[in-house]
Amino acid sequence: MKRIIFATKNAGKIKEINAILSDMGVSVISMKEAGICADAEENGCTYEENALIKARAAAALTQDIVLADDSGLEIDYLNGEPGIYSARYLGEDTPYSVKNAELVRRLEGVPDEQRTARFVCAIAAVMPDGKEITVRAAIEGRIGYEEKGSGGFGYDPIFYVPKLHKTTAELTEAEKNEVSHRGKALRLMKEELKKYECIDC
Ligand code: IMP
Repeated sequence: MKRIIFATKNAGKIKEINAILSDMGVSVISMKEAGICADAEENGCTYEENALIKARAAAALTQDIVLADDSGLEIDYLNGEPGIYSARYLGEDTPYSVKNAELVRRLEGVPDEQRTARFVCAIAAVMPDGKEITVRAAIEGRIGYEEKGSGGFGYDPIFYVPKLHKTTAELTEAEKNEVSHRGKALRLMKEELKKYECIDC
């Protein structure tokens, strides 16, 4: 079975992409499982650049296809903050309850229609022949007035999806994968991988 390495330390992401690629006859494994260790500074200016930085660092150590992702929350009223700095916003180790409360505070008095936001995810692939592919997807929503829901992680409790009448923290894992920036980007990448496989054969 063909292997794909996902340059992440997050086991949840490996599980998610394995579920999405399951019908392609490939197995997605972590860097640890592949026995490689690559640490790259995410100093790009876009999600795509950061995903490529991570994927290239791992690809230099293997002959397998390597994938990596980068994502974040963009709030229109805050000119796209925290954006590519989402993980580092207010400090990497600050609890999300604090980060979420601060974002809600910064939007105090801002009406619904100006609370628009999106989660964005870029996924990069680096192929054994050096070819690079990036895809990007987003989920549109609004910043809520308080945290709601206990699922998901990070900014999910304040990210309200109007058409679902729920925050992404109120969705089941399967529901979130169906509509999320990461789920959509993974499905786009799947189509790209299928095209590459066809060129290959
Ligand atoms: P990463 O690139 O997937 O590690 O995500 C960077 C940061 O964006 C995370 O640490 C979170 O702060 C935020 N983020 C990305 N995706 C989500 C999500 O699905 N829910 C909540 N927060 C997210």
